[in-house]
Amino acid sequence: MIDIQRSPSSKLENTNFDNLLFGKVFTDHMMECDYIDGEWQKPVIKPYGPLSLDPSARVFHYGQAVFEGMKAYKDKDDRIWLFRPDENFKRINRSGKRMAIPEFPKEYFFEGLEELLKLDKDWIKKGFGNSLYIRPFVIATEAGVSASAANEYKFMIICSPAQAYYSGEVRVKFSEKFSRAADGGVGFAKAAGNYGAQFYPTDLANEEGFQQIIWTDANTHEYLEEAGTMNIFFRIGDKLVTAPISDRILDGVTRKSVITLAEEYNIDLEVRRVSVQEIVEAAEKGELKEMFGSGTATVINPIVGFGHKGKKFDLPKLEDSYAKFFKDKLMKIQYNEAEDKFGWRYEVK
Ligand SMILES: *Cc1c(COP(=O)(O)O)cnc(C)c1O
Repeated sequence: MIDIQRSPSSKLENTNFDNLLFGKVFTDHMMECDYIDGEWQKPVIKPYGPLSLDPSARVFHYGQAVFEGMKAYKDKDDRIWLFRPDENFKRINRSGKRMAIPEFPKEYFFEGLEELLKLDKDWIKKGFGNSLYIRPFVIATEAGVSASAANEYKFMIICSPAQAYYSGEVRVKFSEKFSRAADGGVGFAKAAGNYGAQFYPTDLANEEGFQQIIWTDANTHEYLEEAGTMNIFFRIGDKLVTAPISDRILDGVTRKSVITLAEEYNIDLEVRRVSVQEIVEAAEKGELKEMFGSGTATVINPIVGFGHKGKKFDLPKLEDSYAKFFKDKLMKIQYNEAEDKFGWRYEVK
């Protein structure tokens, strides 16, 4: 059982839910679990607040840290749902293994998460698009700057209320120089450093008028792999294509759900390498109908245009886009408004 220390007061009343910036406000509680003496200790839920860590803790020097991103949804009857949380649990341990972080126990993950959500349930607002973003993460806390895996860690879960957000029109740049991940590297893991390394190239792309970068393979920059921190899909004619998962590509829960739904609804989909040349040619011939990213934060994020080697391409505006189709299908399952044929929903009760 988990030790629960309730917050004496709530920030709920002072939070404006009509004007939430993504990931800025956090709920009243957080979950914490320490790994000491070769064992994960008893988890604690306590009031949200700052940590006190030794400045020599490994996480600050070597980036030994991994995280997850998931969401809780509230339906019309105030029931709370998660979407395929087992996938996130398995993935944080896959990421952790690559970063030499000890495996976190399943009971602690689910018990901690569910107790935390029940305690902070009033932070989950009803309505299509409203949700609670959940951020589990692990950091190496052991003091000392020797360059080796730590013997002490902290697993935590923090939660932030989120609104359906419109990110504006997204134009992307195909990366010609920078890479997100390489063979044998950590691209498949949600390792903290992967994201820190994206900020600079993304800032440069922003200056050129692109909101995101499409990462290409590190060796040749000829194959399209991921969109910023999302997986990517292309629609050529009526066929969808997306890159296969690998060392370099993150196995997104949204991506695999889209693939399953495409099969279910007889949408032609190929999982294979997608070359820059193929996409540029399809765009020139007017056959490239859509590009979209997939990920927990925005579910499906349509892309309106792209740039490559100084040329800019615009995509058509479709009424009946696949992007809209999949977003609607997925959200209806997430909010308990549609049949859950694949058993993806998980109720917190
Ligand atoms: C988290 C993430 C995704 C999307 O994964 P979901 O499970 O769908 O949220 C895609 N690419 C990268 C690099 C990511 O970190």
